[in-house]
Amino acid sequence: MLRGSKFEPEENKNRVSSSRCCRYCQQIFQPSRYRPQQSACSEPDCQRRRRSDYHRERIRSDSAYAEDVRTSQKKWQQAHPDYWAKYRLQHPEAAERNRSRQRQRDLKRRLLNLAKNNLALDLKHEASEVWLVGPGMKDLAKNNLASAKVFIYQPLQPWTREARRS
Ligand SMILES: [Zn+2]
Repeated sequence: MLRGSKFEPEENKNRVSSSRCCRYCQQIFQPSRYRPQQSACSEPDCQRRRRSDYHRERIRSDSAYAEDVRTSQKKWQQAHPDYWAKYRLQHPEAAERNRSRQRQRDLKRRLLNLAKNNLALDLKHEASEVWLVGPGMKDLAKNNLASAKVFIYQPLQPWTREARRS
């Protein structure tokens, strides 16, 4: 990679004002002069994470891009129909880890949905800080707080207007 710093005077090379902390590995690095906004260092790992964050964020915010991604994934899967079946056979521990992560994501989505839909407790704004724990977690698909017997723990905070009124 062309950095050019070799040819810069010493005082420029060590300019503290332009060096910064990598958002991924927390190491100090010198941003490229061509990309003053650079927030990740040039380590391959950090660059990989930057690209995948960018990709994920773009899928979220750009529906045309998301559609392109889905289409090309579908094409790839049609061209390699048994890739994942083979992969799961060859990597049983990875397959199990993925299944368990997916279960966690499903559960989190159900719980956040429940919190979002529970207007009486005004959890909308703190949904990410609410922990829902209880024996009925598997039955939450219906979002029925009363029958699911779920306990809601909220972080200690001042009473909201809604709570005071009731
Ligand atoms: Zn880094």
